Amino acid sequence: RVKERGRGNFRFYQPQMNVDWLSRIKLDHAMRQGMEQQRFALHYQPQVSLASGHLLGAEALLRWVDPELGNVSPATFIPLAEESGFIIKIGNWVLQEAVRQATLWQNKGMPIVVSINVSALQFQQSDFVERVANCLKGAQLAPSLLELELTESILIRDANESLARLHALAALGLSLAIDDFGTGYSSLAYLKKLPISKLKIDRAFVMGLPSDESDRAIVSATIGMARALKFAVVAEGVETQEQRDYLHELQCGSYQGFLCSKGLPAAEFEQLVLRLPTALVSS
Ligand code: C2E
Ligand code: MG
Ligand code: MG
Ligand code: MG
Repeated sequence: RVKERGRGNFRFYQPQMNVDWLSRIKLDHAMRQGMEQQRFALHYQPQVSLASGHLLGAEALLRWVDPELGNVSPATFIPLAEESGFIIKIGNWVLQEAVRQATLWQNKGMPIVVSINVSALQFQQSDFVERVANCLKGAQLAPSLLELELTESILIRDANESLARLHALAALGLSLAIDDFGTGYSSLAYLKKLPISKLKIDRAFVMGLPSDESDRAIVSATIGMARALKFAVVAEGVETQEQRDYLHELQCGSYQGFLCSKGLPAAEFEQLVLRLPTALVSS
């Protein structure tokens, strides 16, 4: 863990963190090598309508298999990449790769909205909007087939700058979603001022459904307010039929979770799409 100390913004690692230090350096090195050796891939997890079961989109999730470390979770390497700045390289790759795949699907007559996770550092790059615009243009992907997922903390930091950037992105024609909603400190009233169309309710609140009383209260209040404010709502991490039924009862629009499918390689995802009651394929 990074500690902040002293009068300035100097950062110190605690001596007892030496082992951690070392493994972080190793992981960082392996990550850079993995990127060079093309060991990163995107898997796609469906977002499905609660009312009809139709496919609404796919979230691109980063996967990395290292020859020695095996499968390393993004929950482990993304925070490290954010600290070292390597996330910029990773983020650019994810953007390119997701747009490449979405374009392939578009051109096959499968217009699937692909959403990608954008990290704070990536979003703050002064050329971020331009990069996204160039990528869409280069691939000739309909901008409406790309969605960006941002967390609340990204939007609260440098609020003015973020706001301008969000409007520039929305003006490109893509859609913006708030990821892990409920874990940050933003109010829906504040979010309503932003050009955002979708909220993703964090898995932490979905997990306790339907039995946990406070999770029930939080999720139900969030869905109610989000609906009133005309946000689309996706519940993350739905694993059971009971959770799905309860969310449907609360009029949540859609869900994502192991109940439908985990993230899949593009080819397997296509097979899944063909089995879902989707209007997208035939149209
Ligand atoms: P996230 O964006 O909130 O993604 C959802 C995570 O929940 C994914 O974990 C997904 O596999 C997992 N998940 C989905 N449904 C279920 C379920 O029913 N049960 C359970 N237990 N888990 C479920 P994953 O792929 O390990 O990613 C973790 C986090 O890493 C993501 O959270 C996101 O914050 C970050 N991440 C993943 N890919 C990228 C990327 O390309 N760029 C950036 N910047 N971050 C990424
Ligand atoms: Mg996400
Ligand atoms: Mg999420
Ligand atoms: Mg989450």
